[in-house]
Amino acid sequence: MRRVSIFGATGSVGANGVDLLRHGGEAEAYHVVALTGGRNIARLAEMARVLRPEVAVTAHPELLDDLRSALEGSGVQAAAGEAALQEAAARPADWVLSAIVGAAGLAPGLTALAQGGVLALANKESLVCAGDLLRRTAAAAGTTILPVDSEHSALFQALGGDNLDSVKDVTITASGGAFRDWPLERLAAATVAEASTHPNWAMGQRITIDSASMFNKAMEVIEAKEFFGLKPDQIKVLVHPESIIHAMVTHHDGGTLAHLGAPDMRHAIGYALHWPQRQALPVPALDLAALGSLTFRAPDENRWPALRLAREVMTAGGAAGAVFNAAKEQALDDFIGGRIRFTDMAPRVEATLAALSREDGFGADPDSLESVLFWDGLARRKAAA
Ligand code: NAD
Ligand code: MG
Repeated sequence: MRRVSIFGATGSVGANGVDLLRHGGEAEAYHVVALTGGRNIARLAEMARVLRPEVAVTAHPELLDDLRSALEGSGVQAAAGEAALQEAAARPADWVLSAIVGAAGLAPGLTALAQGGVLALANKESLVCAGDLLRRTAAAAGTTILPVDSEHSALFQALGGDNLDSVKDVTITASGGAFRDWPLERLAAATVAEASTHPNWAMGQRITIDSASMFNKAMEVIEAKEFFGLKPDQIKVLVHPESIIHAMVTHHDGGTLAHLGAPDMRHAIGYALHWPQRQALPVPALDLAALGSLTFRAPDENRWPALRLAREVMTAGGAAGAVFNAAKEQALDDFIGGRIRFTDMAPRVEATLAALSREDGFGADPDSLESVLFWDGLARRKAAA
C-alpha cells in the first residue's frame, strides 16, 4: 500500500489533495501517514476522521488539547508544534504533498525527502529559498521532487523528458490577478480585500495577493529556473487572462508545445500523485468552443516590478532567493496588517535585497536549513515596517 502524507492539508492545495485521496476511486490503496494543518482544528479533525492518518499535526502547540478532543475515539494520534511536524515528516512515506504556505514548508519538505519519499512540491518557497539544498537532499536520498505548481507541472508535462538542449525558452502564463486592468494610479490605494480576490483560481489569501502583485509569478520564474535548470533569460512570462494555457515550451526548431487545462489544481496534484502513470481525475473537461478565444498580453513591469526583481534574484544567486522570499513574506504581512500600502511591497523587497547583498556570504548558496533560516530572519527584520 502506498504511504502518503499531506503537509498543509487544511489549505487550498492540501484540501484538493485530500479530495483526491478521498474520491480517487482507490482510497483503500493509500495508507495515510500524516495530515497537518494550522488553526482550523475542526477541518483537520474532519479530514483525519475520514482518511485515518497515523498522526494529525497542528502547527500551533496551544491548540493541541483542542485537536486531541476533536480526534477523541478516532484512533488518530494528535500532535502539535514544529518538532511534531518534523517527526511526522520523518515517518516513512512514499509520497508527500508539500502544501504549507511560506518558508515554513521548507523544513518538513527537506525531512520528507531525506527519509526517501517523493516530494510533490506545491510550496514554491522551498525552491526559491533553497533550490540547491533541496536538489542535493533529494539526490542524496535517491528520490524525486515533482512539481505541483500548475505552471511547472505544465512545463514538466510539455517537456515530456525532452533534452533541455533542444529548448529555446519556456513561457509561464499569469492571469494578471485582481489588478490586471486597474489604472496604475489606483494601485497605491488598493485594499487587502480587493487584493484578495482572483479572477480564475480559488487559492489561499497569501498566494492570491501575490498574484495581484505578481510576486507569485516572480517566485514561479525562480522556481522554474531551480526546477528545470534553465537560464534566467530562457524563462518568459505571458499575461493570459483566461488561465487555460498554463505553460509552453519552445524548441529551437520553431515548435512550441503548450499545456492546456481548466484552472483546477486537482490536475497538477493528481498528475504528481500518479506519475509516471496518468489516471482519470475529477477535473472539468475543456470546452474551447464555448470559450471562443484565448487572449494574451505582455506583462507591464511598471505595474508588476516583482518580475524585474525575479531576474535580479536569479542573476545574484546565493542567498538572494531566501532573502527575496522572506522580505516578500514580511512585506505581505505588513500589507495584510495595514502597515504599508500595496505598492510599498516591491520597493521594500528591493531595498532589503540591496542592503543584504552587502553582507558577507550573500553570494554563496545556503547549504543547510540553518543557513536558509539565518538569511530568512535577517531579511524579515530588515524588511519589517
Ligand atoms: P493556504 O493558505 O490555503 O494553506 C496553507 C496551509 O499551510 C494550511 O494548511 C495552513 O494551516 C498551513 N500553514 C500555514 N502556515 C504554517 C506554518 N507556519 N507552519 C505549518 N503549517 C502552516 O495556502 P495554499 O493556497 O494552499 O498554498 C499552499 C502552497 O502551495 C503555497 O506555497 C502556494 O504558493 C502553493 N500553491 C498554491 C496554489 C493554489 O491553488 N492555492 C497553486 C500553486 C501553488
Ligand atoms: Mg502557479
